[in-house]
Amino acid sequence: MRTAAMDGEGLGSEEGLRSVVRSVWGYDTLRPMQGEAIRASLERRDSLVVMPTGGGKSLCYQVPPLITGKLTVVVSPLIALMQDQVAGLRLSGYSAAALHSHVSPEEARRVRESARDGSLRLLLIAPERLLLDGTVSWMRSLGDRLGSIAVDEAHCISQWGHDFRPEYRRLAELRAHLPGMALHAYTATATPRVREDIVHQLRLEDPLVLVGRFDRPNLTYRVLPRTRVVEQCERALSRHKGEAAIVYCISRRETESLADALRARGIDARAYHAGMDAAARTRVSADFKAERLDVVCATVAFGMGIDRGDVRCVVHAGMPKSVEHYQQETGRAGRDGLPSECILLYSPADSERWRTLMERSASEGGGGDTAALNAQLELLRHMRMVAGSGRCRHAALSEYFGQAYEPPAPTPAPEATGGCGACDVCLNELDEVPGSAVVAQKIISCVYRVGQGFGAAHVADVLRGKATARIIEKGHDRVSTFGLLRSMHRDSIVACVHQLVDAGALAIAPGEFPVVTLTGASKAFLSGERAARLLELPRERGGASADGTSGPGKRGRRAESGVDALDARQRELFESLRALRREIAERLGVPPFVVFADTTLIELAVSRPTTPEAMLEVKGVGRKKLEQFGEAFAGRIAQWAGADG
Ligand code: ADP
Ligand code: ZN
Repeated sequence: MRTAAMDGEGLGSEEGLRSVVRSVWGYDTLRPMQGEAIRASLERRDSLVVMPTGGGKSLCYQVPPLITGKLTVVVSPLIALMQDQVAGLRLSGYSAAALHSHVSPEEARRVRESARDGSLRLLLIAPERLLLDGTVSWMRSLGDRLGSIAVDEAHCISQWGHDFRPEYRRLAELRAHLPGMALHAYTATATPRVREDIVHQLRLEDPLVLVGRFDRPNLTYRVLPRTRVVEQCERALSRHKGEAAIVYCISRRETESLADALRARGIDARAYHAGMDAAARTRVSADFKAERLDVVCATVAFGMGIDRGDVRCVVHAGMPKSVEHYQQETGRAGRDGLPSECILLYSPADSERWRTLMERSASEGGGGDTAALNAQLELLRHMRMVAGSGRCRHAALSEYFGQAYEPPAPTPAPEATGGCGACDVCLNELDEVPGSAVVAQKIISCVYRVGQGFGAAHVADVLRGKATARIIEKGHDRVSTFGLLRSMHRDSIVACVHQLVDAGALAIAPGEFPVVTLTGASKAFLSGERAARLLELPRERGGASADGTSGPGKRGRRAESGVDALDARQRELFESLRALRREIAERLGVPPFVVFADTTLIELAVSRPTTPEAMLEVKGVGRKKLEQFGEAFAGRIAQWAGADG
């Protein structure tokens, strides 16, 4: 393919860059950090680029080869993602290939040939493959046809990260084998320790370090006390009918029981976990990718290879074990930048469960590695703090990643309440429990009265004055706190217990049946020296209401953009274009999102271009894609406009 360099433009001139990005990807502009990262690569300066999921890291290493006319080798850990990326680039007329264990020797030979004859621009390669004997010396033999090496998901090299992969460690050898070669590392993990470790392990020399903003303004975060997990998931999913959603569960068994329960309620959900046989797993992820399936109940095993950009809802049915995991998993929502919702159904018991699992696996591993165990427990503690706080979720997450949070400029909206405008706290969805300091005291003394030997639900029943068989058997109908909170709902009391645990006023003892106990601080709350501010369970928000509109607060006040902003006719056209995209993708054997992103379909549905020139104006429509798909989409739009009258 022709490159800007061949076109005689200055290497990486502003105009040269822009025209490449416009004609291949159909984007008008580079995001600020992308420009800097690309320039570092063109200047052959080592770099470490830290950008959140969806920030646009891939463009940073995809653009330079088109400018220099040289090959970039990208180390990438996930075969599924490599395949999608290659398919998407090829649709844009970009010469890309992958080398991994599923590539036949014949195909591998062709790929190597295209690198040698200078026609290949991007080669994705798995780390274990890269370090096979021969690969590096083959790379060396390419001489200056090889321009640079990019390491994607670079945090995998660090044991301080959340996804350490031993095969990444050997990437340190690259520097020795290919002296003088520019190395560029990319990651979404921002903790300073991991960052330093990447620089050190990869032997980056005077790297340009670029750290993007971690906030994801298009995501609305909500943390709900987990009470009835199936109903809560159902309610969340019903706000996203016909849209992609992932429900993350802690255990394999939960993915299956939750998917079954949701199916029984008419939601077509499937389970996905690493214990399923490979064929069943492939089927689920292929169906999800091809948009034949919208809801997946999964363990963390799902998602690493999923690149569907239009996930509109991520529910955590249990708390993840680190903020990094939470950020990465919620990061799978709204990668296309459109408004999306993230719900964490939280119980402090999750934290105890993780602790037990971590301690068990540490002791099974010989029990020697206390440093690693402590590192894990520390990550867990931070997650719990973020989940249990009554602070703005965007602020809490940004600050965890070391960035002060700046809310976006306020938009005039009736429900605007200041703050981020996109989390349950700032949207004022949480009310304070009336007389919460006194409620806290009643709960704490009840925990004491029942002898610190029971779970939150039992404590709640005692406070509500329920004479259950178990309460009578234990004589808890005769304790002084029996019936002190008769007017409160059981779920609300349980939620208050959880918040008191977060505030340090109570604790949950680990074990199979979590037991609520007092802490050193309980007394201060009882005496009124410290006061708890307890938040009410969020008012039950329904799903779609009878008139088909969604309930309030669906996605916070950012809902002006995205599918929600379409009127009924535009929405109809959007759905029709989506169906067309699915047909085309199926015919080509690629996932729909590599044909066009949702953002592109939305723009098409709004501006309804019917000529090729007008279509090129739409973000995400590059020349090659216009050539291949322009007619079909313009035809569909024209047909629809005709029917419109
Ligand atoms: P990451 O790898 O950082 O998670 P991606 O490279 O997958 O992010 O990009 C996320 C999304 O942003 C993709 O849908 C991509 O098409 C889009 N994108 C990237 N750069 C731009 C840009 N300059 N203009 C518009 N969209 C962009
Ligand atoms: Zn907020």
